[in-house]
Amino acid sequence: MPPHAPADVYIVNTCTVTSEADAKSRKTLRKALRAREDATIIVTGCYATLEPERLAAIAGVDAVVPLDRQQTIPNLLAQLRPPTGAALASGLTTSIERTRATVKVQDGCNLRCAFCAVTLARGDLRSRPLDAVIAELRALVDAGIQEIVLTGIRLDAYGLEGDGPRLADLVAATRELQIPRLRLSSLEPMGIDARLADALAAHPTLCRHFHVCLQSGDDGILRAMRRGYTAADYRATIGLLRAAMPDTTFTTDVIVGFPGETDAAFANTCALVEEIGFLKLHIFKFSPRPHTTAAAMPGMVPDAVKEARGATLFALERRLFTAIAAPLVGDEVFVLVERTGTRGEGLTPGYLRVCAPFPATSAGRITRARITAVGDDRLHAMLAE
Ligand code: SF4
Repeated sequence: MPPHAPADVYIVNTCTVTSEADAKSRKTLRKALRAREDATIIVTGCYATLEPERLAAIAGVDAVVPLDRQQTIPNLLAQLRPPTGAALASGLTTSIERTRATVKVQDGCNLRCAFCAVTLARGDLRSRPLDAVIAELRALVDAGIQEIVLTGIRLDAYGLEGDGPRLADLVAATRELQIPRLRLSSLEPMGIDARLADALAAHPTLCRHFHVCLQSGDDGILRAMRRGYTAADYRATIGLLRAAMPDTTFTTDVIVGFPGETDAAFANTCALVEEIGFLKLHIFKFSPRPHTTAAAMPGMVPDAVKEARGATLFALERRLFTAIAAPLVGDEVFVLVERTGTRGEGLTPGYLRVCAPFPATSAGRITRARITAVGDDRLHAMLAE
């Protein structure tokens, strides 16, 4: 950001899952503030809900809107900037880039993981009605969107708060829409069952890539985190998905340096990460979040140890990526092109980043490419004949 020309309005959606997320949110906000002096800047999201005063004090911020007031943004915008308010009135749950649309189908969480401040900001489970989601997806397909990502704070818990359709039903209902590519955002392992795995496997265009949050591979730490599963449970969940879809890639989140994490506990995490063979890891160094139970736990891990563990996992991630990517050299893959030209790139269904000189005509399209080499965290390719 800014993606192209500076915008008139920036709505900065902040995250507060870790203090790094807070810092990234502030960085994004600063970019928006620099992009154009007279832009209207509205800050919302979890961080804005938990620390509104801090963000409101930043010069240039026009409004801070907590999560439970997001529906007021169109009106607010109409007051702050009359010409653009109406245009934004319908777009709060969907963000559309040139290539893919993200559709939020669920909000809130009924769990209380010890480290998580998000759930304090987001409230309990709430799911959008299936009919409304399907209507929105249909409109996006009609508009030519090539990839749609279904998202939620607990996407796997879609519908769990009532007796209605669950995520398996939602995925099944999307089959008739002929979405060129459907992708799921992150899932919690405790929400994945055989019925969901079967629904995912039966979908013809669902990306065979799942981000299943791990956080730790050590049973003691998982218990302290109040995650509600063991390493064996997690292993079984991945096994369920792999049995239904053998060619699937997996990515995950891992927290290093959770209070009480010993060298042995960290070694258990590394062993499970290696065993699963993740394509990519999002590595978070534990930082105590205000109002969470983990913030008051004994056994805080020194920063230097967290750094070293993060570096170990990063090296492991690179090794695992190479192991997955190397056999693909010579293969043809389908890439949703995000950028064209000599620095062109895009993503495969399996979430591998592919760099190739995609022509301007391929912008936003699914394009064939032949893999020629493996980089540190991406593949290099030429256009397929
Ligand atoms: S599952 Fe845990 S980490 Fe995820 S939103 Fe709920 S409480 Fe937070």
